Amino acid sequence: MEKHLKVSAIKEGTVIDHIPADQLFKVIDILGLSHSENQITFGTNLDSKLLGKKAIIKIADRFFKNEDIDRIALIAPQAKINVIHNFEVVEKRILSVPPTIRGIVKCMNPVCVTNHQPVETLFTTIRENGEIRLLCHYCEKETSDKNIKIISNV
Ligand SMILES: [Zn+2]
Repeated sequence: MEKHLKVSAIKEGTVIDHIPADQLFKVIDILGLSHSENQITFGTNLDSKLLGKKAIIKIADRFFKNEDIDRIALIAPQAKINVIHNFEVVEKRILSVPPTIRGIVKCMNPVCVTNHQPVETLFTTIRENGEIRLLCHYCEKETSDKNIKIISNV
């Protein structure tokens, strides 16, 4: 087990590291953390060799299902997820972009049925040249990763 990581400040929980600094609040949204009662600490604009500026989120006593954590891949595919037990990193999760996304993301097409009727959004993910685009199942318009708007999930 690696002990040199600077993520050991929580005893139990999940640490999300290597988030591009400008995506921090989207990650908080996508995980619905603004409604969470867990202790959450985050830092942003930290120096990162990989990203220039990065952000990190530490969520105490919370462990995520793969289907929830994989959503982060939409907005921060390089993020690293560390699961902490008793101050140790016991698991590193690799994010994989889910093949389809149901709900969570808003379709950017203003005339799309999902923006006017109580229809849950559904997208196929397209990964190309390091970018992710979401193809809407209903209107077939693509939403690029820069335009992703999160539907708050509570
Ligand atoms: Zn649409």
